[in-house]
Amino acid sequence: MFNIILFGPPGSGKGTQSEKLIAKYNLKHLSTGDLLRSEIANGTPLGLEAKKLMDAGQLVPDEVVVGMISSALDANQQVNGFLFDGFPRTTAQAEALDKLLKLKGTEIGVVLALEVSDAELVKRLLNRGLTSGRSDDTNETVISNRIVEYKNKTAIVADYYKKFDKARAIKGEGTLDEIFDALSKEIDLRQSEK
Ligand code: AMP
Repeated sequence: MFNIILFGPPGSGKGTQSEKLIAKYNLKHLSTGDLLRSEIANGTPLGLEAKKLMDAGQLVPDEVVVGMISSALDANQQVNGFLFDGFPRTTAQAEALDKLLKLKGTEIGVVLALEVSDAELVKRLLNRGLTSGRSDDTNETVISNRIVEYKNKTAIVADYYKKFDKARAIKGEGTLDEIFDALSKEIDLRQSEK
């Protein structure tokens, strides 16, 4: 199994690049944002609670997302590997993920951190809001809250993986194909080192 974390601020292109990467490397895509939105669409109690925080651009509690990831790992035993998108977003989530993967006899292979300027992030998110149907993409205050949450709680997660020499920074600006090629190059390199 080769497991990847696609890391980066909201609007850095994680979702778009994830789609291309799972097709190329035959991975199971696990996006906590998508899992939460499906809980909301199904009107579950978890979804109703999460929606309030998501609409404010704040993070959902660690136990909630870790629980969802744990179930998703159990439900997908026979896969080549996982691509984590939007998770982990706190150091506590990163530690919990390490433990869960260890129980399954596997680990994170590489963390690919997309880097995009703040101005570009806001531009992309507002643009995405025109078609995504996501209320958290249309309001500039919510967008800036999401970026603040990233800076306060999530950016340090990259340092956690740097300790284990697993994090790689990738320029998240350029054409989709240029970014995809840069991500693929790092994955191929890491896989060849295994
Ligand atoms: P995303 O689709 O990754 O942009 O996530 C949308 C929203 O879902 C975030 O703004 C958070 O409110 C929530 N969310 C998604 N993933 C996580 C996570 N790993 N930890 C906490 N909250 C999350």
